[in-house]
Formats: sequence, C-alpha cells, structure tokens
Amino acid sequence: MNKTELQQQDRKHLLHPFTDFHDLGQQGTRVITRAEGAYIIDIDGHRMLDGMSGLWCCNLGYSRREISDAIYQQLNTLPFYNSFFQCTTVPSIELANALSEVTPATINNVFFTGSGSEANDTNLRIIRRFWDLQDRPEKRIVISRKNGYHGSTIAGASLGGMSGMRKQFQPLDYIEHVQQPYWFAEGGDMSPEEFGIYAARSLDEKIQELGPENVAAFIAEPIQGAGGVVIPPETYWPEVRKVLGQYDILLVMDEVIFGFGRTGAWFGADYYGMKPDLMTFAKAVTNGYFPLGGTLVSDRVAEVIKSKGGEFTHGYTYSAHPAACMAGLATINILRNEKIIDTVRDVTGPYLAKRWAELADHPIVGETRSLGMVGALELVKDKPSRARFDEDCTAGGVCRDLSIKNGLVMRATGDTMIIAPPLIITTEQVDELVEKVRRTLDDTA
Ligand code: PLP
Repeated sequence: MNKTELQQQDRKHLLHPFTDFHDLGQQGTRVITRAEGAYIIDIDGHRMLDGMSGLWCCNLGYSRREISDAIYQQLNTLPFYNSFFQCTTVPSIELANALSEVTPATINNVFFTGSGSEANDTNLRIIRRFWDLQDRPEKRIVISRKNGYHGSTIAGASLGGMSGMRKQFQPLDYIEHVQQPYWFAEGGDMSPEEFGIYAARSLDEKIQELGPENVAAFIAEPIQGAGGVVIPPETYWPEVRKVLGQYDILLVMDEVIFGFGRTGAWFGADYYGMKPDLMTFAKAVTNGYFPLGGTLVSDRVAEVIKSKGGEFTHGYTYSAHPAACMAGLATINILRNEKIIDTVRDVTGPYLAKRWAELADHPIVGETRSLGMVGALELVKDKPSRARFDEDCTAGGVCRDLSIKNGLVMRATGDTMIIAPPLIITTEQVDELVEKVRRTLDDTA
C-alpha cells in the first residue's frame, strides 16, 4: 500500500488514542516506518530527531539489539507462561531481583502489570488491602494532584487531574485532588520557593479537612510529565515529606516517566530524597520495546500483603510476561554497564540545561525549565504578563507541527512545549535539538 492508501485504511479502521479525529481528516496520520538511534523516519523518508523518546519510553533509543535479541530468544524458549497460582518463570525472578537492586533500599518487591495505567489500578488495590488487613477500613481516600497524569483506565484517569480527561467519564468518588506545584501558571505574586511551600501545604489542608484517619495514600509524579513537565520548586518535596511525616498515610510516587534515569538518578524518588511506600513504573523499563509495567512495593507494605489475610485476589494475564521481563533485564543491564544515568547526571543533563536556558531570550518564550533529560518552554504573546496567544492555547499545536517539519519531535501540552529526548543523546545532538527548537520558535512567532 502506498502512503495515501495507508492513510485511508487508517482513517477507516483505527480509533487512535488521544486524537481529534477531525484533525486526522484534514492532515492524515503521520506513518512512521523506521527508527535508528535517537531518530525516527516516516514513510516519506523524513528523518526527525525524537525529542520525546517515543512516548517517554525509548530512553536508550531505537537501535538496541541486545533488547530485541533478548525478547526474540525468550519467545523461542518460553513465549508465555503466567505467574499466577503458585507458578513463576526464571525471567520474572531475575527481573524482580534486578529491580530490587536499583530501587531504594526499602523497596524489595514488585507486582508486575502490562502498563502504567494497570499499575496504578494495582496500587489502589494494594492500598485498600494494606489498610483493611490492619483493621483500618476507614482509610479509603486517596489524594492526588490537579493536572497529574496517572493513566487512562478508570482508576488511572480518576487519579489523574487533567480537566479535559475528567470531563469524559465518571471518576471514582474516593479520590481527591490538591494544588499542583506549577509556579509559572499558578504562582501569582509568590516566589517559586513560597509557591512550593504553598502547594505542599494544600496537601496538609486537604488531609485535615478529610480527617487523617480517612486518608489512605497520596500519589504524585516526582515531576508532572504529561501535564507539562512541571518541575516543582525546590521547597516542594521537602515540605511534602514534612506534611506526610505527621500522618500515617502511604506515599505513592508515579515513576512511569521519571523511573530509569530521566532525572540523572535511577528514580525521581532518589533525586528528591523521598522514601515512597509504592512506586509505579512502566515505559522505559523495557526501553519501550515490549509492554511492561508494575508497582514497586516497600518492605512495610509487602510484609502485610504477604503475611496476612490469604490470597490477594488481583492479577493480569500478562503480569510478568517472560519476554517483557527479558526486555527489562536487558535494559537494566545496558543502563548499568554503560553508566548511562551517570552520563545524564554529569554530562548531557547539565549541557542540555545550559543550552535550553539560552532559549529564554526568544521573544515568544515566557519561561524555560529543564532537569536531567526533560525540558519545557512556555509560549507567550507577552512576556511580562505571561499572556498566551489565545484562550484555547492553540500556539502549542502550531509549534508542534512546525517542529516536525523542521525535523524534530516536540510535544505540546496546551502552550507548553515539552521534550524528553533519549538518555543516549550526545552533546552534538543536544545542539541539533536546540537549533531546531529555535528555528521552530522563529517560524511560530
Ligand atoms: N503514569 C504516568 C506518570 C504516565 O505518564 C503514564 C503514561 O504516560 C501512565 C501512568 C500510564 O501508563 P500507560 O500508558 O503505560 O498505561
């Protein structure tokens, strides 16, 4: 089939996730056919630097044969077996062991799922079970944050705080949302430091309002990813730690984007010095080459689930799929052997920070922020007032489309432009990325 035929078939048969079908009718889908290193290539041969690592998952880029070979070999040895009903497989044991080596010292158990959304459903099941088994059935409420993203299943989307998503379904009624630490959009006259404290205190206020005895857990991404790479002010996480320290409330860190090195530490929790009870992961655990997610469970929680109350009646057919586990093991081996995370922390992350900050002088950029291998730019019509180009924040979509023309994949969240390039990106490729972003900003202005 040629490109036009493919696009016609696509329109006819595919219901795409997170897509406005009206736009598809006008432009047709982009057909991506190949990828290598940090680049993707479409059916016309147009080569683009992938500034989003796929969907924040191909941290090692697209050419790691060690991972695809590991999957292939496993598929030819034991292509499927489950981990239900007193069964296990060698890859699942080996990956669970490797994960416990790279996670914080208090985390030594994992429950595997097929995706990040499923993992957050699992978190809700584990949280409920944990408190019930300790005769605390009143602990039911889970607090999350406005504009957070935790997946697309009913539980994931209920935990999520993006207003556009919440409008389209009936969220679970035991989830509450508090202030996000998004200083550029919501900080008003406060300094970032003051605003970080303010956002953390909103959690305290909510806990007091609900009654701490009724609150089971607080869930948050270390940095809000899909919400616009919202890097919290430095005061935020230490204050959250203080707030949670006063109450018996579990902390769930959703590491689906920031796990496996994106901040220059193994997990966002390590970067911010937090000690979560549960950590959600997915995406980069297999470098995106095979679906796998899960929740990493602290000893405190695992002990209760394992030692009391009989069977935990929860699981997915693809929990611990052997080929997925082999992909995870191969990915962790590369991250460790090639010291990829150290390079992000010491070399490429600081270099991106320096080059990215230079974009702040552009007339339509209201703020730049970056950390490790993520960055964001706020598009504005007027810098001092931070006014957007229009009420619906359509400049972001225009900028995204122009970036693709310029050979770069950037994502738009409203008028916030975000990047999360592969961790293997070189300093020369950082230069290429920043030059392409500047050209795109010129074209957008
Ligand atoms: N949690 C976070 C923080 C995410 O960014 C995502 C996906 O982007 C999810 C959960 C959901 O993961 P999945 O799409 O694998 O279900």
